[in-house]
Amino acid sequence: TYKTHARIDGPLVMIGFGSIGRGTLPLILRHIDFDRDQFTVIEPSSEYAGLLAEHGIKHLQLALTEANFAETLRSLFPNGQGFVVNLSVDVDSIELMKLCQTLGVQYIDTVVEPWPGFYFNSPLPNAERTNYPLREKVRALGKSYPGGPTAVSCCGANPGMVSWLLKEALLRLAADTGVKADPKTQADWALLAMTLGVNGVHIAERDTQVSARPKPQGTFVNSWSVDGLLSEGYQPAELGWGTHEKKLPPNGHKFKSGPGYAIWIDRPGADTRVRSWCPDVGPQFGLVVTHNESLSIPDYYTVWDGPRALYRPTCHYAYHPCPDAILSLHETNGAGKLPENKHILTADEITEGGDDLGVFIYGHAKGAMWYGSRLTIAEARALAPYQNATGMQVTSAVLAAMVWVAENPRMGFVEADEMDHARCLEVQRPYLGRIECHYTDWTPLQNRINRFAEDRDDSDPWQFTNFLAV
Ligand code: NAD
Repeated sequence: TYKTHARIDGPLVMIGFGSIGRGTLPLILRHIDFDRDQFTVIEPSSEYAGLLAEHGIKHLQLALTEANFAETLRSLFPNGQGFVVNLSVDVDSIELMKLCQTLGVQYIDTVVEPWPGFYFNSPLPNAERTNYPLREKVRALGKSYPGGPTAVSCCGANPGMVSWLLKEALLRLAADTGVKADPKTQADWALLAMTLGVNGVHIAERDTQVSARPKPQGTFVNSWSVDGLLSEGYQPAELGWGTHEKKLPPNGHKFKSGPGYAIWIDRPGADTRVRSWCPDVGPQFGLVVTHNESLSIPDYYTVWDGPRALYRPTCHYAYHPCPDAILSLHETNGAGKLPENKHILTADEITEGGDDLGVFIYGHAKGAMWYGSRLTIAEARALAPYQNATGMQVTSAVLAAMVWVAENPRMGFVEADEMDHARCLEVQRPYLGRIECHYTDWTPLQNRINRFAEDRDDSDPWQFTNFLAV
């Protein structure tokens, strides 16, 4: 028997039934009370139609487009109540969020996804292919709907759960360094990060999941959406820009408009490496793939002195994907064209490994700390069906966010940083394996094989240019 955390009344519509949608299904069935005949999945593929039929869930086999999405969703939500869980690719999140406000329906997604045409073959200049304008658009739109039906933007594992882990980590760091902390508001949290002397945060991930089959040449293999990784991986690298940073990285640019909490680099995130650190392996390369949390965290943790940012941490993803995905990216970068064949590793074929996903917080009194979830494939398999360790960290965050939305139905637009991290982690924790805290004296100036020319700032190890491997 599983604990029911919340009830959702009215139609429940999941958009997209890919690796994350399938993994989220058993968690919804376990922990959320709803009427089975009100559950519809919109998914163009018939591949998993059998699974939906088995669970008695309606399958609307259709791809949402600019032309049909409004009419389709209107017909599914006739009574001004219900819930949309958007786990698709190629469906415009902002359009869905607007429509859900009109329909009186709660909403959650895991990424600000645009209609097709944004990620590839776009006429837009690189500055406009970043996530900054997408997020700014969501934030501006949110101001029109105060107290509207709750709409959570970007809440999976990352973006999502990592914002909750960051809060837990900051409280832990405060306790371990004797700093009094009882943050309640956004300003309190930002002040706490500043008081602790946090220069920056990596979303530091190491995925070690492997299968017994060597990666076939020409097939892009990943542990979650291949389309998702390619889309964000070939946007420009992007990061929250801390107030301690002395100089922009090569080809780095500030944004010309808006609050300016981030910068972008004129090269793909999937080909931009930083030195980072995860438990188990220690020092490693991570990729600066752009993500919403690289923007929401620096924005949330800015301490303002009038119009001037007094304090802000640097923040970015430092992603070490699974070995097959590293090889796939290497192949794709070399070939200079998108792969034709794609494959997502399933829980059944993965033989070993797991996913370590956490926050690496640096520059404070104890040097650096990694705080996060360490989940093996064996643990994930035992916890719930249809997913690997990576999926489990994402789907349990979706579950936690759905519960929080059901408990807080009229908050308007929110991001993970603005939710109750303790409540969300309470729901999610049983699915995260071990939550571990590791301190380390590692800095990006350590660990070199021989000496080569590099842009080094020995006076401050925590400069972004020291992390960046050019
Ligand atoms: P996936 O590629 O396995 O599945 C995506 C699904 O969307 C597919 O089944 C596809 O048929 C469906 N789809 C495509 N076009 C559609 C349309 N027009 N209308 C409706 N459905 C459509 O991807 P996934 O691994 O399940 O990931 C789903 C989404 O979640 C992606 O956008 C991904 O970037 C995001 N994601 C976020 C996180 C996070 O931590 N925040 C983690 C993993 C994935």
